[in-house]
Amino acid sequence: MSGTGHALALRGLTKRYGSFTAVDSVSLKVERGEFLTLLGPSGSGKTTILMCIAGFVAPTEGAVLLDGADITPLPPERRDFGMVFQGYALFPHMTVAENVAFPLRVRKLGAAEREAKVKAALDLVQLGRFADRLPRQLSGGQQQRVALARALVFDPALLLLDEPLSALDKKLRAELQEELKALHRRVGRTFVNVTHDQEEALSLSDRVAILNHGKLVQEGPPAHLYEHPRTRFVADFLGKSNFLHGTVQESVPEGFVIGAGTTRIVQSVAENRRPAHGSPVLLSLRPEKIALLNEDDAADNVVTGRIAAWSYLGAGYTLVVETPDLGALRVALPTWQAPIAPGEGLPVRLGWSSTASVPVVEDVA
Ligand code: ATP
Repeated sequence: MSGTGHALALRGLTKRYGSFTAVDSVSLKVERGEFLTLLGPSGSGKTTILMCIAGFVAPTEGAVLLDGADITPLPPERRDFGMVFQGYALFPHMTVAENVAFPLRVRKLGAAEREAKVKAALDLVQLGRFADRLPRQLSGGQQQRVALARALVFDPALLLLDEPLSALDKKLRAELQEELKALHRRVGRTFVNVTHDQEEALSLSDRVAILNHGKLVQEGPPAHLYEHPRTRFVADFLGKSNFLHGTVQESVPEGFVIGAGTTRIVQSVAENRRPAHGSPVLLSLRPEKIALLNEDDAADNVVTGRIAAWSYLGAGYTLVVETPDLGALRVALPTWQAPIAPGEGLPVRLGWSSTASVPVVEDVA
């Protein structure tokens, strides 16, 4: 089980059901050996795209390409992709080893070769010791690892995962996420994963493609998407954000200034991206980019307000600070930076740098 995987491309992929467009002209490349996640809210078309890649759903328009070859007309069995689905049922009457051997039997491999490949696949998911158990004698996480071994055992060109971890509890899911990531590194294959869980998408993937209403709205490496969302939808879907509305008042060397009531906000942007004077602007400001300032601390942007609500999260606090001009601002503080007793009504000074926020646009869905 070595190699560099295969490259996948979607070209103008569209799926309509009657007059309803479930997938709307999606073009996307997945590089060899890459872990790509399709992320979006329920009904955004993720599963439909995965089913088009697998060959179970025929696109209305567009094409699926594997290493540049058009595979759109091929039936699923000729594509030979590995698949793991949510709550993927193992054959209950077969042992772990028999389950994993199943795709090899279908492909008519000899007993010796089968045995060697099953052993390698089970070692890969660290379940070698459980080969003779029945599925019901395993935990949910172990069963899901067996499903992964079964999907990988025949060395598929591509591994397709549809919410493979969503049936598991939170702690187990976090553990399996790490294992899945390590597994991807070990096998070096191309993985396409579907989830609506933004944390899972950020932590697992080399690249994330965000979908809304069947359209690809933005794609890129997790950190880039999180730091540079282009739209309000992306900023909002990938974690929490504050959205600041204002009007461009002046140009300054680092960017521009917007006014919101009597508050001035300095925003850095590249010279060629400056909006015109008087135009409305929407900024996305992540809660963790806002600092709590002491009386004489300086920052590019400073606002005052009062704590309206707060919650303790172990690793830190979330404060909701009510400000006169910007409304309620959500602030995430590490414990060491938070006031000892962040009581409601406490007056606070908040500050952030002109590079902390990013201009975004409202989505037109
Ligand atoms: P979820 O996260 O809830 O699984 P999803 O992003 O995977 O959602 P899809 O299952 O791809 O979404 O569905 C996209 C849209 O297409 C949905 O509005 C769904 O109702 C619709 N759809 C899917 N299959 C069919 C079908 N066979 N006939 C009609 N509409 C369909």
